[in-house]
Amino acid sequence: VIVSVGMATCGLASGAKKVYESLKTLTDQYSGYHITLRQTGCVGMCHNEPIVDVEVEGLSKVTYRQVSPETITSILDAHLLKNSFLPELAFGQVQGASNDTPMITGLSLSSDSDYFRKQVKIVSKRCGVIDPSSIDDYLATGGYDALKKILSGISPEQVIDIVTTSGLRGRGGAGFPTGLKWSFTRKAQGDTKFVVCNADEGDPGAFMDRSVLEGDPHSVIEGMIIGAYAIGNSTKGYIYCRAEYPHAIRLLKGAIKQAMERGLLGDHILGTDLSFHLEIKEGAGAYVCGEETALLASIMGDRGMPWPKPPFPAQKGIWEQPTLINNVETLANIPHIIIGGGEWYASFGTEKTKGTKTFALTGKIKRTGLIEVAAGTTLKEIVYEIAGGMSGTKKFKAAQLGGPSGGCIPVDLIETPIDFESLISAGAIMGSGGIIVLDEANCIVDTAKYFMSFTKDESCGECTPCRDGTKVMLDMIERISDGRGEMKDLDDLINLSTYVKSNSLCGLGQAAPNPVLSTIRYFRAEYEDHIKRKK
Ligand code: SF4
Repeated sequence: VIVSVGMATCGLASGAKKVYESLKTLTDQYSGYHITLRQTGCVGMCHNEPIVDVEVEGLSKVTYRQVSPETITSILDAHLLKNSFLPELAFGQVQGASNDTPMITGLSLSSDSDYFRKQVKIVSKRCGVIDPSSIDDYLATGGYDALKKILSGISPEQVIDIVTTSGLRGRGGAGFPTGLKWSFTRKAQGDTKFVVCNADEGDPGAFMDRSVLEGDPHSVIEGMIIGAYAIGNSTKGYIYCRAEYPHAIRLLKGAIKQAMERGLLGDHILGTDLSFHLEIKEGAGAYVCGEETALLASIMGDRGMPWPKPPFPAQKGIWEQPTLINNVETLANIPHIIIGGGEWYASFGTEKTKGTKTFALTGKIKRTGLIEVAAGTTLKEIVYEIAGGMSGTKKFKAAQLGGPSGGCIPVDLIETPIDFESLISAGAIMGSGGIIVLDEANCIVDTAKYFMSFTKDESCGECTPCRDGTKVMLDMIERISDGRGEMKDLDDLINLSTYVKSNSLCGLGQAAPNPVLSTIRYFRAEYEDHIKRKK
């Protein structure tokens, strides 16, 4: 009997540790049944945590939601003593090819299984399935096969060709073509080169990278080793992960150690000439350190402040050497692309946004959590089919995509396909993948004020347009929100937003006005109402 408990941060926050401890006691109690107790990452259904899978080999595999130390005893009793299951907490088998067909006859799936129907899992396919602390689990599911494949006869140039053919674009938000970035870094001259993983996820409402790191840390490591091989002359890499992700950091440290012990990382990987070492750098939580040049400055021990580009990191990054920097999701996609092929990956998604994208779903929806969909899936499909619609009686008002750098998509544009270009033309951005759903009870001006306040606080202060502009913009929104605004403030706000966008040094300032501009564009009447209700 295999019992798996989802122990990512969402599970732990919901009480999974207590469930796990109870299971340890029960395992002794039911010693005759040979129970194997496992920990997994998050399968994506954060709203159902703690989640427990019970698999009785050849008989049943049932997934249970919102399990407590009290109910886990009844669940085990049902499986072990009665060869049955506990229907009130069961919602079916959520993994594998036969998602819709639980092995136990008569178990009708709850509507929660819709959560998975529209999803296409590539980068998150192992999350919630394997034990992320076990390299054997990773190896047993094809882990490090991509590394072995390239080392047994695929040249670095061919690796870059495969990545280019896949059409993969940076999943951190900017959407720069990954193959092109790899080829620039390969061509760049330097004494040595570095590979950096940007795991400094900081958008409010975003937890995609954390989920991947906590569910499948080896995939990121394998992607980095493949990156080092492809750019050439690189023996050192850094994973820059925010210190607020202690569970992810623990798992990463364990994964690096295991990979070193198995000869998959370190000197002469798998007996070849490739040597690559990895170090974790813990970020102190400054949002600006998600900007690549600020992140590199922080790795070098400097204050995390961006530098003007060019030179781009591919030309001069850490210690002025060519540096390949990609985010967690981008790197975790690489092993799948090497195994499946560039054409296979490109067969998902749209013409200009290939493949899949993970999103963190939060807000006024029935089902919150981590999802992965083919690019081009519409916002409506995400909100009404995957997330199950609105959680209360109020109607959908808007979705904030891309966090503080993104924008609001109103109900009229709910059919917008989620891809880089469509979102930009709707005034939002894909960003790293946060989606916050708002209903009619949410005040749009307050939403813009929240994001403006966030970027004002996180501005590093290096350049005037962002440092002073975000402060003045926040003052203006606060005036409007408090009923002290004038109609002319709206045009002033748009003008200042446009100035800050075009004159700020880095992406933080350039994108900071997006929530303001998109909310004024679609909800100007609501801003005007605030002004008319003048105190
Ligand atoms: Fe710093 Fe903002 Fe200027 Fe970026 S735009 S360098 S965060 S002040």
